[in-house]
Amino acid sequence: MKKYYFGTNLKMYKGIADTTRFLAQLSELTHDIRANNDIELFVIPSYTAIQSAIQTTLATSHDNPIIIGAQNMNPNDNGQYTGDISPLMLKEIGTQLVMIGHSERRHKFGETDRQENEKVLSALKHDLTTLLCVGETLEQKNYNISDEVLRTQLKIGLSGINTNQLAKLRIAYEPVWAIGESGIPATADYANEKHAVIKQCLIELFGDAGKDIPVFYGGSVNAENSNELFGQQYIDGLFIGRSAWDAENFFKIIERI
Ligand code: PEP
Repeated sequence: MKKYYFGTNLKMYKGIADTTRFLAQLSELTHDIRANNDIELFVIPSYTAIQSAIQTTLATSHDNPIIIGAQNMNPNDNGQYTGDISPLMLKEIGTQLVMIGHSERRHKFGETDRQENEKVLSALKHDLTTLLCVGETLEQKNYNISDEVLRTQLKIGLSGINTNQLAKLRIAYEPVWAIGESGIPATADYANEKHAVIKQCLIELFGDAGKDIPVFYGGSVNAENSNELFGQQYIDGLFIGRSAWDAENFFKIIERI
């Protein structure tokens, strides 16, 4: 049976009340789909809403609950890192997934591939499902170096991982030029071509085991373009921003599987 992956990053938009309302509705709407399909559905709220989000998903669904993730983490277990959150702290409140290297972390906070790699290694060591985001900027696309950029982000970001940790690894391909309000979605052909580059690189890094690492597309996905994107050979799932922040809209995308 084909496995389906859908997720959303709530960025810095919803507090506890909005997150729990959203999750309760999403949980109810997707109950049957989650019960009857091999589907991994995840939501990544703000740190402050993680704990209540977990309680909401567990209380509203016992079969295949929605997975709750964090938007970032410090790679160290503890230490003098004022303002940061460690993997142990995330685990303590039941967080199952952590997103690493979202383009806003890379481009607004100046995170490097080496830093993403430290976080990836730490997250996997702590048995967190680890979603590494990669993607080229518009400038890199225009210089025709997208493939090299993706390969560099993957080769550095995933360096030092053991093949026995791969079951917890997920990749999101999010071209920076396609994300957010000014974003234009990648065409299905373009996205599929870049996913093929990513898959090929994962095979180079991990051999045959690299074939099974799920790769999701993100960047201006909506109810109109989701089917075509999801129908592409190398796209295993969709990672959605704005179009998923209303539970009914998100459900419209998911229910077509
Ligand atoms: C994102 O910011 O990761 C994202 C995919 O956003 P959007 O779907 O709104 O372009």
